[in-house]
Amino acid sequence: MSEEIVVGIDLGTTNSCVAVMIDSQVVVIPDEQGRRIQSSIVSFMEDGSLVIGNEAQRELVADPRNTIFSAKRFIGYPFDSKEARKLRAQLPYKVIKGEDQNSMIEIRGEAFALPEISALVLHRMKDLAEQYLGVEVNQAVITVPANFNDSQRQMTKLAGELAGLEVLRILNEPTAAALAYGYGKGLDAKLAIYDLGGGTFDMTVLQASGNVFEVKSTAGDTYLGGDDFDNRLTRVILIYLQNHYDFSIEKQPHLRGQIKHIAELVKKGLSVRDKFKLSQQIRLLEYPEPVELNLVMSRELFKKQCSDIIDRSFTICDEAFSRVPFDAKEIDDVILVGGSTRVPLVKSMVEDYFGKAPRTDIDPDEVVAVGAAIQGAMLGAPFSVEQLKHNPLLLDVTPVSIGIMTVQGICEVLIKKNTAVPCEESKVFTTTVDQQTVVKIQVFQGESRVANDNVKLGELELIGIRPAPRGEVKIEVIFEVDTDGLVSVKAKDLDTGLAHETRVKVSTGYSEENVSQMKERLDASGVGAVELTK
Ligand code: AMP
Repeated sequence: MSEEIVVGIDLGTTNSCVAVMIDSQVVVIPDEQGRRIQSSIVSFMEDGSLVIGNEAQRELVADPRNTIFSAKRFIGYPFDSKEARKLRAQLPYKVIKGEDQNSMIEIRGEAFALPEISALVLHRMKDLAEQYLGVEVNQAVITVPANFNDSQRQMTKLAGELAGLEVLRILNEPTAAALAYGYGKGLDAKLAIYDLGGGTFDMTVLQASGNVFEVKSTAGDTYLGGDDFDNRLTRVILIYLQNHYDFSIEKQPHLRGQIKHIAELVKKGLSVRDKFKLSQQIRLLEYPEPVELNLVMSRELFKKQCSDIIDRSFTICDEAFSRVPFDAKEIDDVILVGGSTRVPLVKSMVEDYFGKAPRTDIDPDEVVAVGAAIQGAMLGAPFSVEQLKHNPLLLDVTPVSIGIMTVQGICEVLIKKNTAVPCEESKVFTTTVDQQTVVKIQVFQGESRVANDNVKLGELELIGIRPAPRGEVKIEVIFEVDTDGLVSVKAKDLDTGLAHETRVKVSTGYSEENVSQMKERLDASGVGAVELTK
């Protein structure tokens, strides 16, 4: 157990939040202006300086090519993957192919790895915590989406390390939310975590029994969120403009982004009032003067445009409930997470689906960081006996199946999705050729029967096998998933009991040399040169 203070960080796609437990109370750490949430945006300025967090928001419009947002969405997707290609098409900054297929971001002629960008955001959170607490902060619990695979978790851990943080635990976001909600309450309840963010949706079903939190099932969609609402409202505004003015959107590509920004404002406005009167001036290339955009948008219109998007989330909920022996109506409490759950239509449709109003006691933007801070406190400074009684046990599950590729290219699942972690599973391998001394095993994560459609975690080579006729040597390979959801593999010769030398590259895909270069660059950037003010 660590003697140091351990902060909890929700490293979000859109926003990040840092919290810490002080005297059994969780404090969400504000920035210099009292804002408790930071934008996960990094802007590289012309003079070489960096602007990170909420201040970087204005650069989205002023300097979109050098302002990086949503970097988390690329994490774990190879450059040539369908997902990365789709994302690239939507973003104003330049993404290039790096070593080992990873995507990299090119800014002012320099290529940055994704964990470097996340590290800058994490560094900002660390700085905020240090300024607030007046002590150095070196350890953290960082949260990730429940469906993050091994390489995405590894990259998040690397980002933490690059930011100068020892990552004591990688915690699943919904599990953190359940902890925030149920910590110390001695609940005996079935909980559902409905998490609708900017671009992703996750549903997690948990059982809280006393202070044990057991994840029963999880399902998600990485392309469902507030962005979809923005896109629908963008379409409405564009149609309005097209009906009133003669212009070509192709000639002014920045216009779509500008209108999307307006659409998001409308959406947020409709979260607090029934109607939103939009009165804005827009510059169109074809007109010498700015044109007027006067439009009244209502919740009615929002419902017509967006209810099918919210409906898609319930298909995912159905999937999560298909794996547990009870249905949605038997859930005791529904906890909302993510900025998009502020939309009143989302709340009312969630209420209809579960047959009860969702809980909103903890801010949906802060709930994950609060849970991470609680977990951090459990791993941090020693507990009194009194506190130990409340020390919750987290039983998480693997979000994605882990398997190996068979000769026919089929993915043979060894650890099924939704298995409680930590867990291990073993399989006996043998040689297929006489005198064979090397066996190569390819490890995949995903749900497809075709191995190559899944994410390849790495290759394992069993080397130095005793030469013998084929089929004689039997090697047991053990796959383990730890509490962070990270995968490791070991092998044992069943005849001799000897551990085999294994070579496994289940990692971020970055070499040690790459990582030290990243560290050097981060140190040189001057980020983190904060003065402790307390
Ligand atoms: P998250 O990924 O959890 O930070 O959520 C970000 C998403 O929440 C974005 O799509 C935001 O536009 C959306 N969001 C934040 N605040 C509100 C609000 N008050 N009403 C509607 N959507 C919101």
